[in-house]
Amino acid sequence: MFRQSLRRKSCVAAIGLFLAACAGKQQAPLRPGENAFPEPHGFNQYTPEQEVQLGRQVAAEADAQLPELPTRGPIQDYVSTLGQKLAHQLPQNPYDFNFKVVNEKDINAFALPGGPVRINLGTIQAADNEAQLAGVIAHEISHVYMRHATRNASKESIAQLPAAILGGILGNGAGGQLARLGLSAGLGSVFLKYSRDAESEADRTGAKIMYEAGYDPRAMAQFFDKLKQEDRAGGPQFLSDHPDPGNRAEAVTQAISELPAKRFLTDSPEFRRAKQVAATMKPYTAEQVAQMQQQRQPRVTPASQGSISPSGGFQTLNHSAFQMDYPANWQVFGNANSAVTIAPQGGVSNDSIAYGVIVNLYRPQTQISLSQSTQQIYQALRNSNQSMRAISAPQQIQVSGLPGEIVNLQSPSPLADNSGQPIAERDMLVTVQRQDGSILWLLFIAPEQQFDALSPTFKRMLDSLQTR
Ligand SMILES: [Zn+2]
Repeated sequence: MFRQSLRRKSCVAAIGLFLAACAGKQQAPLRPGENAFPEPHGFNQYTPEQEVQLGRQVAAEADAQLPELPTRGPIQDYVSTLGQKLAHQLPQNPYDFNFKVVNEKDINAFALPGGPVRINLGTIQAADNEAQLAGVIAHEISHVYMRHATRNASKESIAQLPAAILGGILGNGAGGQLARLGLSAGLGSVFLKYSRDAESEADRTGAKIMYEAGYDPRAMAQFFDKLKQEDRAGGPQFLSDHPDPGNRAEAVTQAISELPAKRFLTDSPEFRRAKQVAATMKPYTAEQVAQMQQQRQPRVTPASQGSISPSGGFQTLNHSAFQMDYPANWQVFGNANSAVTIAPQGGVSNDSIAYGVIVNLYRPQTQISLSQSTQQIYQALRNSNQSMRAISAPQQIQVSGLPGEIVNLQSPSPLADNSGQPIAERDMLVTVQRQDGSILWLLFIAPEQQFDALSPTFKRMLDSLQTR
């Protein structure tokens, strides 16, 4: 269902010279020249276009929840200019890089697939010079360029991917399909945690970007080492999101050892000015930012039965992987080749799905039983929503002549009661094993108190399901 763009660089196929690089830490030094960049590699089931779309939607969510500096201002303008200058060094750039400053004290930065980069004000306050700040930004740009987040998501298959992204976000962008994508649950687990290998790659690529842009790449490693030394009570968040691969300074020095010497930029009047302004500001603490996010959680009351009840008969969705009837007054988000969400108009709000059905395809990486696949899908859903619980044992069923399973789940709804507490939600997970071994799965969603009323509709949809 996701487009498979297989771009594997196999270590087995590489000859002697490269074996050391594949095996681990010791990498060949970087070569000079604008085109001699490390290349993205590894299996990735996303196209760059999909990454851009994904990143835009997640960034919209993040931007709405984080206290960012105004779009124009001395610090924001400066960081944006510096970021674009660094991104400009990349040999190919199908991405949509944009750089925003978050008014937060902690030293941290993050990048989303396809180009959004967010930098905490604390990072600017902590940098001694422009080269160090450029190092942090070049490192983040490198995560985007090396496609680490989506490579991660591809590797883990759906085991790490929030239901949000599975539920149609890769489709036609109908605006809010980030089902239950909380910053903590969704983003944290998939996009913001990198392996030590990914960190080494981002350092190496970042070093190349810095060198080409005229900065001493060692300033990047110096800044990270400085963070490590200041790592006292828990340490800066940066090092927990970007784990230290070890010997950063040494690795960068080794990487640039064969690049021709040049005069590096260390500082600029623009950096000094931005830093001066930053020094007068009092950014929020991480706790304060977390509180703000809490307060911005959707406060929506359940829709009236009338606005979600099916009416006007049923119509048929023809998807490349299945065919299914759905209420004519419900909407389909996604397209014939993507994951889809089918929901009533009033069922999707604030980027969350309170009523409706998510349909997607899961391809297990090894041959496993239907029950094991169901378990993996359940785990993936739980990863995006830790409060989700199975309330029944899996039950065997037949769906259009194929073996299937049903598990009933319970979780907090995106809808809140009058006191602002989330109401209970019931979800029914249905898995169907297709002939080719892949699993078509459906998640039927409704608030607990309205689930029974919608049951006949869900049943009719399921009865009409035919896989292709
Ligand atoms: Zn990193």
